[in-house]
Amino acid sequence: MENFVKKNIRSLRPSATLAINEKAKKLSSEGKKIFNFGFGQSPFPIPEKIVSTLKNNAHRKDYLPMQGLEELREAISNNLKKNTGVNYKKENIIITPGSKEAMLLMHVAFDGEIILPVPSWVSYEPQADIALNKVHWVQTSSENNWYPSGIDLEKKIKAIGKKNIILILNSPNNPSGTKCENMKEIADIAKKYKILILSDEIYADLTFDETYESISKYYPDGTFISGGLSKWCGAGGWRLGFFAVPTKLSKFLNALKTLASESYSTVNTPVQYAAVEAYNGDYNKYKLKTINILKNLGKYVYDKLKSNKILINPPQGAFYLMPEFINSKFKTSSEMCEDILNKTGVALLPGSDFGFKPDKMLVRLSYTDFNGEYFLKNSRSHNETSLDEIEKFAPNVVEGTKRLVEWSKNL
Ligand code: PMP
Ligand code: GLU
Repeated sequence: MENFVKKNIRSLRPSATLAINEKAKKLSSEGKKIFNFGFGQSPFPIPEKIVSTLKNNAHRKDYLPMQGLEELREAISNNLKKNTGVNYKKENIIITPGSKEAMLLMHVAFDGEIILPVPSWVSYEPQADIALNKVHWVQTSSENNWYPSGIDLEKKIKAIGKKNIILILNSPNNPSGTKCENMKEIADIAKKYKILILSDEIYADLTFDETYESISKYYPDGTFISGGLSKWCGAGGWRLGFFAVPTKLSKFLNALKTLASESYSTVNTPVQYAAVEAYNGDYNKYKLKTINILKNLGKYVYDKLKSNKILINPPQGAFYLMPEFINSKFKTSSEMCEDILNKTGVALLPGSDFGFKPDKMLVRLSYTDFNGEYFLKNSRSHNETSLDEIEKFAPNVVEGTKRLVEWSKNL
């Protein structure tokens, strides 16, 4: 039966992030105490007014334009202008069912090759494989915050030769939790060689120093931006994303529109209306509070784990940390994650899912296993979270971290 499946699809497996979530849930339902540090989902509730807007629009049953609701595209355009300083006009934005789908369509439309930094989010490479776009990995280092240096990027582009290229850049980053501090350098190289950049800004509103930074400001003509409601607004399950294209590349947008119209048609109508409220309303307080909790929790886990056995970069955004275990006796990071899960109940994802060589003992840790609604309601301050609050409102994060520390002592 295998032969009915295309060769490039046959070797793919269900996405690691979704698979670990299901595995953790299954083990929990079998009675095992699991600390789900494997899946990256916002723990916070969607702001009430956005939920009520969805309810008030539930009766809307007609299809919207394939590019998405004009009001919503306008609201996103205004937000991008405010955050990045660049004018991505509403005509150059398409609404998609999650930004993941937007990226897949980008790969399907794109005639060229892809550069991914090591590490990169789990789905970038499989999506390129689906669309038969060759992937080239560019090395990074913890000293450079897990982003490529200008020199390494330039070398990679030269090695690929004269081809169309897209570099995917994600800051703050999944899996490392760090942000890119050499955007200008990267943009200058991209400009020099006329390669395009996809700036995945799904976590940009969750930057711990509260600045929204986009590489588009250094290279507006060659930068696509993707984003959506999944992370800052806690609405992953609503599947609302967008893709913004520079005016000069409007033909590329036409291709995306066609692909959209031939696949999902258009994103569901009530959610698009609710998203207008999300982008037009003032949710600054909510953002500050959620950032404050994530920032302090990230620092808590970082402080506890960091040791001569565990190397780790300080968290700067999103909700991930990427610890590296030293003197590990395991052959692969995946084998190590199995051992950790069996001995401690802590679910993690191996670095190999993010482009690292299997023998690099890096893992992704998502510190989101807590009741975000409860934490948000009861946290006292916008800019401080006490140890007391962390212990009270995020007990699984505290206990899972403790177990990891204990486990690492036997390395
Ligand atoms: N990019 C990164 C780095 C992510 O972690 C996610 C989360 N799934 C996405 C894109 C896709 O998010 P969504 O499809 O929910 O917009
Ligand atoms: N972004 C999440 C993660 O990295 C999960 C959702 C997804 O993969 O689509 O864990």
